[in-house]
Amino acid sequence: MSKPREITIFAPDCNLCMGCLDLAPEIFDFDETLNRIRIIKNPVTPEEVNLAMTSCPGQAIIFVDQED
Ligand code: SF4
Repeated sequence: MSKPREITIFAPDCNLCMGCLDLAPEIFDFDETLNRIRIIKNPVTPEEVNLAMTSCPGQAIIFVDQED
């Protein structure tokens, strides 16, 4: 298992499709007050966020350290 890394969501690229909630509900939640995706587990290992990250239509889920 790789080292956990901080992730964030680049809001302008997020279309609120809710795909990440379906794929990784332990990491993502929807904040109804702010009308945006909220990260509820951070940092995460690349393995556990990989599917949601690669499936995001806007590629809005990114690593904060930008190593890749
Ligand atoms: S999968 Fe991407 S575009 Fe869809 S809600 Fe999550 S962060 Fe936003």
